[in-house]
Amino acid sequence: MNKVLALFTFLAPVLLAAQTTPYFQQQVDHVIKVTLNDTDHELDAEITTTYTNNSPEVLNEIWMHLWPNAYSSAKTAMAKQQFRDGNMFMFYALAKDMGGIEGIDFKVNNSTVAWRFDEENPDIAVIILNEPLAPGSTLEITTPFKVRIPSGEISRLGHVEESYQITQWYPKPAVYDRDGWHAMPYLGQGEFFSEFGTFDVHITLPGNYTVGATGDMPLDADNEAEINRLDKLDRDTRAYFRVIEEKGLDFSNNNEFPESVDWEKTLHYHQENVHDFAWFADKRFKVLKDSVELPHSGRFVTTWAMFTTNEEELWKDASKYLNKSTYYYSLWNGDYPYNHVTAVDGTISAGGGMEYPNVTVIGESGSAFSLDVVIAHEVGHNWFYGILGSNERTNAWMDEGLNSFNETRYLIENYEGKDLGLLSGQLSSKWIERLDLTDFEYRWIDELAYIFPARFGADQALQCHSDEFSSINYGAMVYKKTAAVFGFLRQYLGTERFDTAMRAYFSEWKFKHPSPGDIQASLEKSSGEDLSWFFEGWIKSTEKNDWAIVKVKRTDHGTEVKLANRGGQSSPVEVVAFAGDREVGRVWHEGG
Ligand SMILES: [Zn+2]
Repeated sequence: MNKVLALFTFLAPVLLAAQTTPYFQQQVDHVIKVTLNDTDHELDAEITTTYTNNSPEVLNEIWMHLWPNAYSSAKTAMAKQQFRDGNMFMFYALAKDMGGIEGIDFKVNNSTVAWRFDEENPDIAVIILNEPLAPGSTLEITTPFKVRIPSGEISRLGHVEESYQITQWYPKPAVYDRDGWHAMPYLGQGEFFSEFGTFDVHITLPGNYTVGATGDMPLDADNEAEINRLDKLDRDTRAYFRVIEEKGLDFSNNNEFPESVDWEKTLHYHQENVHDFAWFADKRFKVLKDSVELPHSGRFVTTWAMFTTNEEELWKDASKYLNKSTYYYSLWNGDYPYNHVTAVDGTISAGGGMEYPNVTVIGESGSAFSLDVVIAHEVGHNWFYGILGSNERTNAWMDEGLNSFNETRYLIENYEGKDLGLLSGQLSSKWIERLDLTDFEYRWIDELAYIFPARFGADQALQCHSDEFSSINYGAMVYKKTAAVFGFLRQYLGTERFDTAMRAYFSEWKFKHPSPGDIQASLEKSSGEDLSWFFEGWIKSTEKNDWAIVKVKRTDHGTEVKLANRGGQSSPVEVVAFAGDREVGRVWHEGG
């Protein structure tokens, strides 16, 4: 709790703008040139950030995130959070396992400027502008920087030997919006909030690395050879699996790193309307390239799977999962607006997978089902995080929760009729037996996960700061309760009305920063319903829904039942009538 208060105190630089300020959004475009040194595990880079002030305020300073410094000592906000959760790695880590960003020398419009680190957080800095930045004006921030790449054991930026996961790696401005500056330290539990813009990135590295990254590879002189190389890797991978299948051979288990070649190549990536740029480099990657036709526009999106031999017997089907998830998320929420969706196989410490625009990294899965789940979930974040760029640190339910709702729907769509015991892979068979869950249907998985802590009174409202959730509740509330209650809302509105409303929300807020109030207003406008019972009751409170049938009376027309609301919610309730096993009718009763 003290920690949380400290974080909020830190947000003191927030300039509380008047609530009546119309929505605006800063434009932040980056040009980055970076070289990977895979002997010393370092990046050597320079960045030019063009910052346009679309706010009505004059800016005297620009708050910057230098998130590689979250890995620089055991005193950072991330290290303290890990310590609180019982993870001592950073306290005992060797210097070579730690990371950081060095050599920063900010210039604004080519002039030296004063800048300083935040007093509490070495991964936050503020540039004090020589001249104020007027509304509608643009400035250019440049700096060289070096990144010491930490051990992949710690969090999402790191390397495991010569496998590189390069995320949250460059200096970038914090979001400035109607509520002021949102400077925040990097955390493992608690994600991101960044400005949309265009990224133009050149990556130089030894010639035998394969890279999965945010952005398209324009067909220019830099990229031509690499585009051909990737196509050849796809053909080679298909031939390899074909031979294994035809000859009944075992999958390879050689996962050693080949030597880096002594020549370098430079790859060029370009993407508009994204709020982050991540890249993953490995010399061992096999590659599968495929494509999927989007349901609304009929446009084709390229899908890439890049993986090592570690779980190649599962990854041979990864294109199918990528294509299906891209299709269904587009169908339900709106077509994917970019040109490629890429999943890379990587060993990360931050759980099953992690999302970045266009590209996602997937940890070890253990089963085909788990790989499908994680790929679908991480691909889905392109919508709930990537395109709808809500503040994940303070409103995690808007990305993790809405994404989990779609994930469950995707699984039901693709694995209909299977029970939990067959599907989960998460619960041990002992628990499935003890809880008598062998016939449990997957569609109740989210409600089940929410009900456990809720019955003990250990639940927390969805509208909490990420760092305020216990780690169990971060999963059980943010992911699962949100998924369960949006499943409830879909049932209440009906699938067609719900999907229409979600697609309207998507088209109204894509490439923007929707707040909880914005999604509520959008869903209310398109559904024509007052949904305050949903947002006040289910999102902002821990009140329970607890309806009982207290009286049943036969009448000339059928059966009359009297309901009592024993919970604290004003949520509506659906009453379903059965004759034996046969459903004979259902009706919604408005709450109160
Ligand atoms: Zn997620």
